[in-house]
Formats: sequence, C-alpha cells, structure tokens
Amino acid sequence: MRTVIGFRLRLALFFVGMLVAVQLITGAIVYGVTRHALVVDGERQLAASAKAFTAQMDDVSARIAGNVGVMALDFALRQAIAEGDRGTVLSVLHNHGRRVGASRMQLINLDGTIVADTADAHADGKSFAFPELIQRAFYQQTAVMAAVQGHVYWIVVVPIYAPQPVGLIVVYVQVDDELLAHMQELSNLRRDVALEVQWAPSQWQAVAQGDRSTPFARGLEHATGEFPTEPGLRRIAQSDYIVLAQPLQHPYHSPAVAVVFGYSLDDALRPYHHLAVAWLALLALGLAAGLLGVWLIARNVSRPVEWLATVAKRIEDGDYRVPPRLPRRDEIGALANAISTMAAAVQQREERISHQATHDAVTGLSNRVAIEAEITRDMETGVLRGSLLMIGLTRVPDIIKTMGHGLCDRLMRDAGERIQRVVDGAQVARATDSNFVAWLAGVGRDDAVQAAMRILDALAMPYTEPDISIDMVPAIGIAIYPEHAAEAVALLRYAETAQFAAAGSSRAWAFYQAAIDPHRPERLSLMGELREALLRGQLELHYQPKLALATHRLDGAEALVRWQHPLRGAIPPDVFIGMAEDTGNIQRLTRWALEAAITQASQWQAQGMPLRVAVNLSARDLGDADLPRYILGLVAMHRLPPQQLTLEITERAVIGEFESASRVLEQLAAHGFHIAIDDFGVGQSSLSYLHSLPVDELKIDQSFIKPLIDDPNDRIIVRSIVQLSHELGYQVTAEGVEDEATLDYLASIGCDHAQGYFVAKPMHAEALTRLITAQGHNSHA
Ligand code: C2E
Ligand code: CA
Ligand code: CA
Repeated sequence: MRTVIGFRLRLALFFVGMLVAVQLITGAIVYGVTRHALVVDGERQLAASAKAFTAQMDDVSARIAGNVGVMALDFALRQAIAEGDRGTVLSVLHNHGRRVGASRMQLINLDGTIVADTADAHADGKSFAFPELIQRAFYQQTAVMAAVQGHVYWIVVVPIYAPQPVGLIVVYVQVDDELLAHMQELSNLRRDVALEVQWAPSQWQAVAQGDRSTPFARGLEHATGEFPTEPGLRRIAQSDYIVLAQPLQHPYHSPAVAVVFGYSLDDALRPYHHLAVAWLALLALGLAAGLLGVWLIARNVSRPVEWLATVAKRIEDGDYRVPPRLPRRDEIGALANAISTMAAAVQQREERISHQATHDAVTGLSNRVAIEAEITRDMETGVLRGSLLMIGLTRVPDIIKTMGHGLCDRLMRDAGERIQRVVDGAQVARATDSNFVAWLAGVGRDDAVQAAMRILDALAMPYTEPDISIDMVPAIGIAIYPEHAAEAVALLRYAETAQFAAAGSSRAWAFYQAAIDPHRPERLSLMGELREALLRGQLELHYQPKLALATHRLDGAEALVRWQHPLRGAIPPDVFIGMAEDTGNIQRLTRWALEAAITQASQWQAQGMPLRVAVNLSARDLGDADLPRYILGLVAMHRLPPQQLTLEITERAVIGEFESASRVLEQLAAHGFHIAIDDFGVGQSSLSYLHSLPVDELKIDQSFIKPLIDDPNDRIIVRSIVQLSHELGYQVTAEGVEDEATLDYLASIGCDHAQGYFVAKPMHAEALTRLITAQGHNSHA
C-alpha cells in the first residue's frame, strides 16, 4: 500500500516539480534578458543625457555671451566705464543681468580688480576670485561652474572692447532646481539628475536636483566617495540605478562640481510587473492543471495498482477468492488478469495441500491432526459431551510384515468404509497405520459402547481377496469427554491407552481407566519397544530346572522370559511384565512364551529328555477365552503330550477373576495340562478355596523358603503346607532354595520339587540340555 502511495506521490512531485522548474527557468531567463536590455538602454540614455547637458550648458553660455556682447556695444555703458560712472555701470549691469537670468554681474578691469558688483556694493577695488579666467576669456568663450559662498554658479566671462579691451563682464547664473528644470524642459534631460559639489574630499552635496522626491535624490543629497564617469550600477537608497557622473569645468579656487545622472532600473522594470503577474498567474494555472492531471492519472493508474496490491495482500493473508478481471486493455489490465489467474491457481493448490495435510491418502479419511482439530473445535463450540473410539486392528502390523503394504492399504480402506457405515454422523479418521478414530460428539458412555459393538460386529467378518482371508482382530478403546479429559490430545491418548487394554481383554473393547494408565512417557515407549521386540524375536526364554527331591533328578524347568534391550540393557521381567499386563500387551507376550516353551519342550522330548516345562500365565490371560484353544493348537502342532506342559498361575490372579479363571483352568485341565499355583502363601487364600480349582501343584513362595533354616515357625508353616497339599492330592514345589540345608530339610519333610539358585539359576536351553545330559551320564555311572 505504502509503495503505491509513494508511486502516486512521486508522480505528482515529478509533474509539479517539472512545471515549476521550467517556469522558474523561463522567468529567470526573461528577467535576465529584460534587465540586461534595460541596463544597456539605461547606459545609452545616460550617455546621451550627459552630452545633452553639456550641450545645453554651452548653449546657455553662448546665449549669455551673446547678450553680454550686445551689452558691450552699449554706448552709455562704455561712456560710463570711461568716466568711471559707477552708478550707471551698475544700473546697466542690473538690467542686462535680469535679461540673461543672472543673479550677479561684475565689471572687472583687465588687471582683475572689481569695478562694479551688483551683489556687493563694497567690492570696488577687490580682486576677482578667479584671475586665471581673465586671460582665457580673450581667446575662447569661457564658462565654468564655481561654488561661491555656498552657492554654485555658472560663471561666464566676456571681454569688452572699445575697440581696445577695456574690461570684462562676469555673469553669475545660479544653478538651482529651477535652472535644472528649465534645462530639462529645453533638452529632454532625465529627471534623475543632480548637481553635486565636492566641499571636502569625497564629500558631495547636491546643490540642485531634477526631482527631489526620488530615492536617487534622497541618496545623493549628501553622498560620499567618487562617482563613476562611465555608466555603472549603483545601489542608491535601496534602489538599483545606473549612474553616470559628468565632471564640469571649474576654476582653480572652486571645489569640484559634477552633474550626476541616474537611471532607475526599478522604474524601468515597472512596466514588466504586469508581465510578471501574468507569468505567476500562468504558473498557478499550470500547477492547478498539473495537479488535476496527477489526480486523473492517479485514478487511472495508481487506483488499479493500489487495488491490485490489496488483492495481492489478501492472497498473502490466505484469502484466495479470485478477484474480478479488470476490463482494461493496457498493462494494468494484463497485470490484473495475471493476478486473477494466479489467485485461482494458488487457491487450487492451497486446497490440495490442505486436503493432503488433513487427510489420509489411503482411506481418504481425515488424519489424526484433522480429527484433533475437529474435536477441539467441538469442545470450543460448546459440545457438552462426546465419546472417542480408538479402533485398532491388532493384526495389521503382522500383515504389513508378511503381506506388504499394498494388501494392508486395501484392508484399511475396507475397514474404514465398514466403520463409517455403522457410525452414522460420527467423525471417522485414520489415526495411525493400524488405528482408526471415531469421534461421537454428544454421545455418552452407553451409546459409545453400543457404537463400539456395532463397529466390532462390522469388523468381525474377515477381509477377503481371492485366495486370502484375513481376520482383522479389532480392539476398541473408549475415552469419554469431559469425564476422562477435556482436551483433544489427552482424549486421543487415553482412547489409545484403552485400546491397548482392549486388545488384551476378551471383550475387545475397554473404557479408559485412569488407575492403570501406563502413560508415563517412558512406559509408553517401552511398550512400543516391547511390541517391536516381540515381532523381531528379541525376547528369549531362559529355563530354571526343578529338582525332584525323591529321585534327585532334574525332571522339570520353568520358562522365564528375558529381554536384552539394545539400549537399556537387561530389563527384569518384573518391570515389563507388569506394564504389559496394564497396557494389554501381555496376551501377545504369553502367546509368544507358550510357543517358544512348547517348541523347546517338544525338542527335549524328541531328544529323550522328557522335561515338564512350566510357562507363567498372567491374570489377564485367564480372561482370554481363546487361550485353551490356542495352547491345544500349539501342543498338537509340536506333538507334545499336554501333561508335559505346566501352566503357572499366581494365587492372586486366580482370586481376582475367579469365574473366568476357573473356566479357563477347567478347560486346560480337562485336556490334561498340568496346573500349578504360583507364589503360594502370599495371596492369603486358603487351600480349601483353591480346592474347587483343578490344581495339580502348589509352588510355595520364596518368602517362606528363604528364612526356613533360621525360623522354626516358618518351618512349621512349610511342613503344614506340604502335608496338607499332599492330603489334597497336590504336588509341592519349593521356590527360592538357596542352600543345601534348606534342600535337605525340604527333602526330609517330603516336598516333591525344589527350585532355586542352589539347584540352578535360569539358563539357556542349550545349557540346560548339557546339564541334563551330564546328569544322565552321572546316573548311568
Ligand atoms: P516367578 O514365576 O515366581 O519366577 C521365579 C523367579 O524367582 C525368577 O525371577 C527366578 O529367576 C527367581 N529365582 C529362582 N530361584 C531363585 C533363588 O534361589 N533365589 C532368588 N532370590 N530368586 C530365585 P525372574 O526370572 O526375574 O522372574 C520374575 C517373575 O517374572 C516371575 O516370578 C514371573 O512372575 C514373571 N515372569 C517371568 N517370565 C514370565 C513369563 O514368561 N510370563 C509371565 N506371565 N510371567 C513371567
Ligand atoms: Ca513362576
Ligand atoms: Ca513364584
């Protein structure tokens, strides 16, 4: 926006600036030329004036001389001179003087003494003030300017012949404003004229002026310095004048006198003021027209440019509405159309990108990011409750491994469609490789379970392709808003947690339970890694042998899982088994352990070492109604007689879910599997309580066996358990046998088996094989 205003402003400035510059330059040139012409003209006029003045003075002189000449012919005068008749002389002088305009007349002798003076009655016998003029008067017309007693006179000296020279007549014509005016009248002199007397060096005074009202007159009233004798520019009383001084002849004893002409440039320029006013008016008019032009151009050019900038800014801000095309054929129209096209393209691309960013490419459903935003939006817009279903297809990771991604993608697409079909109005998204999410806004607990059941039903049918049929094995975790969490992220996480639990349960769906939330970050990642470890075969079983006390032979072994984590090192089973139970991963672990143990047992069987191998089941396994079938399948496949497999189940697990536990145990026992109660004694159950279960063996917990030697009470307890068990038909195994004395005591009270570090620590299958083989040799020996 700013740049466009700048553009308009620059345009305006350029136009107006150009106009003003051109006008100013023109004005300056015109002024300069005019002024120069006026100066030249002024100089010329001054020179002419100076000449005219001199000529006029000469005229005056000649006229005076002529008059005096006539006077000299006057007989009466000559007689009066000859007779020394002063009265007559004076009277004649007066008369003539008046006629020529003289203010004073003198008659002087040839030797320069004054005979008569019209201005001074007592001048007789005094000497004439300018004797050098006497000689000159006889061979040329003599006239000078002289200052006498504060006045300036034009003095004309004329000799008188009778016929010999008898004397001279001196005519004094006072030079004043009147005379100057008179001369101007006669000869067209400039009015800017002053007659200056130099009373003292560089001190001039005007004794006569052409026009006393001008700055010129004011400035020259009393002037200092010298006057130019060539025309030159002078500043006089704040006005410009061209000045020319003409020095006048003066007698030796008189101060210098000069006539000074002035030519006022200001006056000369005055006629041009009209021109200047006209020029200024023109300039103003031009400016106005220029501004109008700029405004029009701004409308025509910068408005559309501004508009385009606004459109561009809008696009930048994410508003991709396509701007209308401009009906113009010029560059701006082309630009506008280009922007329209661009906006449309950007809009399309933006839509594609945002679709890609919020959708899963395989199923076309929203992705996790999008559903999270959707849930957040619902929460913010006041949806009061909702249920989040995390639908996991637990076999998908296996399928990817064995069948590849292509099949898996098709399966997920199919599953996504099935889910959408049964949860009408819910937001369905794909959350991970194997998980879908369904967000049921406004739906509470009970309806959420109904929805989960519908989804489970929909996914119950295997996915089929020609020659392939795949069970999806779905499990659904449910988290309720706002009961479990008030934020989308937390809700998603909780639903995922619940989904883990559901995967490990027989129902295949589960609500989130805060009590067993394994969502401490390290547990979560550990569980992820455990699943990995299971898939990659990073877990292994160690076997701890059981010693039959009656025969002193190793005839059984307990399978104990070992996890050597690539980074964390050996992780004790106590740690990760508890976690696997909480997060629903135990089912896989158990199935894996069963398969590994049964495989090993059947190998030993085949090698002629019929060891009864014990596998630990966890409480949650007892809720797995499929387990018996699964185990049966395994033993059948590996041709292991069921009685060669012991299933250990803790006392506590049995108490926890007695109903389902007894159902599973009944089935297993019915098929001939050996059932052992693990950790007996710590669960505070009674033997009579266990009696309703199909139990074959009791394993007395380590906590009773270890203190045996030192604690007589403990011995009594252990002995009682052994006796009572035997009476109930159970075999007894003592766990945690760490020394010979304990072993001996157990043997003495008729305990059937001992298990513990004193007998052997858990070891690799091969190690146990070697141990048994050695035992065989020993017994043979
Ligand atoms: P458990 O079933 O009571 O297994 C016996 C535990 O006692 C084993 O610990 C074994 O190494 C240890 N033990 C044996 N003899 C002695 C002895 O003389 N002194 C002492 N102090 N300890 C002895 P481990 O291997 O760490 O297993 C711990 C628990 O983890 C097991 O207790 C069992 O509850 C569980 N577990 C191990 N493997 C599996 C499995 O494959 N599945 C299931 N569900 N649980 C398992
Ligand atoms: Ca055990
Ligand atoms: Ca035990």
